[in-house]
Amino acid sequence: MNAATDRLETVKADIRDAERDHGRDPGSVTLIAVSKTFEADDIRPVLGAGQRVFGENRVQEAMHKWPGLREEFADIELHLIGPLQSNKAKEAVATFDVVHTVDRPKIAKALKAEMDKQDRHLPCFIQVNTGEEPQKAGIAPRDVDDFVRYCRDEVGLNIVGLMCIPPVEEAPGEHFALLEKIARRNGLAQLSMGMSADYSVAVGFGATHVRVGSAIFGSRDYA
Ligand SMILES: *Cc1c(COP(=O)(O)O)cnc(C)c1O
Repeated sequence: MNAATDRLETVKADIRDAERDHGRDPGSVTLIAVSKTFEADDIRPVLGAGQRVFGENRVQEAMHKWPGLREEFADIELHLIGPLQSNKAKEAVATFDVVHTVDRPKIAKALKAEMDKQDRHLPCFIQVNTGEEPQKAGIAPRDVDDFVRYCRDEVGLNIVGLMCIPPVEEAPGEHFALLEKIARRNGLAQLSMGMSADYSVAVGFGATHVRVGSAIFGSRDYA
């Protein structure tokens, strides 16, 4: 065991407790271990402990780290949780298995074109800017219904759910509740919400995917 695998077990136990406390089915929440900024050597022990679902926020970084790890470990599922540029759609579709950050028509169309070309039809989440923060990516809550319809019916993407990153200085609960409400009225079953500080709260509001980085890998060094 190293520190990261100890922390992984703690996070998994917390998720099980939250599932039980909130009457969720055991195993209904998928833990995405967010490995951004960490090297393959840091990730390998966590893979060794059985974790198979990971999140990265940069296409370029993931392209370099994950092909080698995929050769060492079977059944890895890699989620793109960071902003996507349309000129990276090709690499994103080739590298990732799920996309959480569809947030504008140009990206939706670029992803669909690449998925068709590569015959890799990835499930997608739409990112919602629940706090309507000007600096943050995501569709404004009032525009989500139209955008879901557009992505599904006009573009033909497989939209499975919604994702949000609540404002740092606010209690996350109302944002999680809003995301759940918008997903429900659009018939979307999956909710990507909750990070290291609030994943147990998110489970209480119906999260199906929590994205947990520093609580597993430790604090990040962006230098
Ligand atoms: C980095 C990141 C996370 C993980 O954040 P922690 O607070 O370290 O758990 C989750 N979601 C997104 C979109 C991120 O960029």
